[in-house]
Amino acid sequence: MRPVGVPSAPGTAAGTPVTASPSTDAVTPTAVPAGDALAGLVAAPGASERPSRGGAVLAPTASGVLDGRTILVDPGHNGVVVPAINDRLVPAGNGRTKACNTSGTEARDGTAEHAVNWAVGVRLVGLLRARGATVFLSRIDDGGVGPCVDERAAIANRGGVDLVLSIHGDGAELAHGRGFHVIVSSTMAGGADLAERSATAAGLLVAELDRWGGLPRSTYVGGGTGIDRRTDIAGLNLLVRSPGVLLEMGNLRSADDWAVLKTDAARDALAAALAATAERVLAP
Ligand SMILES: [Zn+2]
Repeated sequence: MRPVGVPSAPGTAAGTPVTASPSTDAVTPTAVPAGDALAGLVAAPGASERPSRGGAVLAPTASGVLDGRTILVDPGHNGVVVPAINDRLVPAGNGRTKACNTSGTEARDGTAEHAVNWAVGVRLVGLLRARGATVFLSRIDDGGVGPCVDERAAIANRGGVDLVLSIHGDGAELAHGRGFHVIVSSTMAGGADLAERSATAAGLLVAELDRWGGLPRSTYVGGGTGIDRRTDIAGLNLLVRSPGVLLEMGNLRSADDWAVLKTDAARDALAAALAATAERVLAP
């Protein structure tokens, strides 16, 4: 979630003004093969623009408990950082503005947060489609720019999706700070009822992650609840009718958390916990 002042991709040094140059264009750090999970992806007309807009839609691959449901999967950040775009201020809800996007954090071995988010997001897409859901995906690959945080919410609003699942990893520089937490907005455009439905979804996600047990609840935010209520998350604030949560899967700056999060088994489990939460919210 939080930038650590390091480039998110080669050739895009943080703090250095970079426009859409050929060297930036050459960077396509897609760390995870799309595989079958994204087969049949239909990209929006603006999905390859900078910043990208519209995301993609993926039809169900089977019939299941999520038949007829639509879910936005939002892997946080993106592979290429263009400061001139990322620094642009966009509406963040509550009359505030916020930077279009950030580079995200990175693990101590240099693995970028966006790649981890993408890896889990692709897994989640596959699981949801196999259970009957139509999936909206906020970005079409792990090598683009944006979309801005307000556009991520707009994709959900335009699509009238039933649930928003945003995926991040935190970057807290704390000696012993570790664990996951789920962020919800207490100031959603959809009002208090929508905020309450989102908080319910967050509680269900915490329960699923507890059941997995691969990572503890955050030791540094949420007071042991695994939930953090905030007013500054544009992608949640701007939602009109879709309940939404933002999962900080763990603290990427923690060696203990990264030892877990770097494994395929953990990424499978995180995606499974998110999919199970969608089931419990939408097909109780
Ligand atoms: Zn993030």
